[in-house]
Amino acid sequence: MQKFAAEQLSTTPGEFPHVGRAADGATRRVSIGDVSFGGDEFVVIAGPCAVESREQIEASARLVRKAGARVLRGGAFKPRTSPYSFQGLGMEGIEHLRRASLRAGMPFVTEVMSVGDVAELAPRVDAFQVGTRNMHNFALLEELGRQPKPVLLKRGFGATLREWLGAAEYIASGGNLDIILCERGIRSFGDETRFVLDLAGALWAKRESQLPVIVDPSHATGLPGLVDPLARATLACGLDGVMVEAHPTPETALSDRAQALTPDMLSAMIEGLRPIAPAVGREIGSAG
Ligand code: PEP
Ligand code: MN
Repeated sequence: MQKFAAEQLSTTPGEFPHVGRAADGATRRVSIGDVSFGGDEFVVIAGPCAVESREQIEASARLVRKAGARVLRGGAFKPRTSPYSFQGLGMEGIEHLRRASLRAGMPFVTEVMSVGDVAELAPRVDAFQVGTRNMHNFALLEELGRQPKPVLLKRGFGATLREWLGAAEYIASGGNLDIILCERGIRSFGDETRFVLDLAGALWAKRESQLPVIVDPSHATGLPGLVDPLARATLACGLDGVMVEAHPTPETALSDRAQALTPDMLSAMIEGLRPIAPAVGREIGSAG
C-alpha cells in the first residue's frame, strides 16, 4: 500500500488535530456495516443515483452484489440543481433502501441534507453521506459529529483541500472520527467532463490526514466510459475505494441517467480491478 514519508507533509502539526495525519502515518479503519475502509481492502460502493421505487432499489441491490461491490448506495433525499427535478422519495426511500440492503446482505450509504433529518435517519442508515453541496453546512457537520454512524464526506466542488479537511474536523471534533473522504470532482472551466477529477488532491488528503480517501468517478466525469479506467487509476495510486453509480436500466433513471453504469459495465469494472489489486498490496473483497 502507498506510504508517504513524514518529511513530505505540507500541513503543520496541530492544524487538523483530530483528522490530521497520525504519528505513524497509518490510515484509520472506518467501517460501514461489516465493510472496512482504510485497510487492505479496496472497497467498491455502487448503486443508483436515486432510490426510485422499491423494485428499482431491490433490482439495484441484486445487480450490485452480483457484480461484486461491497456497499450499496442510493439517494432518498436528492440535492437537485432545479427544484422542479425529482427530489427523491425521502423517508419512504430510506425504508426501501433498508429492505433492499438487508435482502442483499450488504450495508448502504445514503445522503442526508438537513440537520432536522439526522435523528430520524441515524438508527436507520449504515452510513451518512454528505454531498458536495453540503460540505460547508457546518450545522449539519456538527450534528453528524454527535452520531454513532460513519460519515462519507464528499469534497465541495469549489472547496480547497484544506477546507475539505476542515469540514472533516467539524465532524471529528464532535466525537465522531468515523469519516471517509470522497473526492468527486471540482469545477473548472471546461464542460467536456462534468467536473475535473482531482486525483492529486485526493492523494494529498490521504497523505495529510488519517482518514480513508475514496473517489467518485461517476460525478467527476459524467461519462460512464471513463468510470472504469479512473477506478483502476484510483486503486493503482493507493487510495481506498471508489463509489460509482449503476442502474438496472440506465435509460429509465430519474436522475444522472447519462452517467450510470449498466450492470455489465459494473461487473467489468470490478473484474478489471482484481488483477491490479495484488500488485499494489490491496485486495478486492467479495460479499460473504
Ligand atoms: C450523489 O452521490 O448522488 C451526489 C449527489 O453526489 P455529489 O454530492 O457529489 O454531487
Ligand atoms: Mn448522482
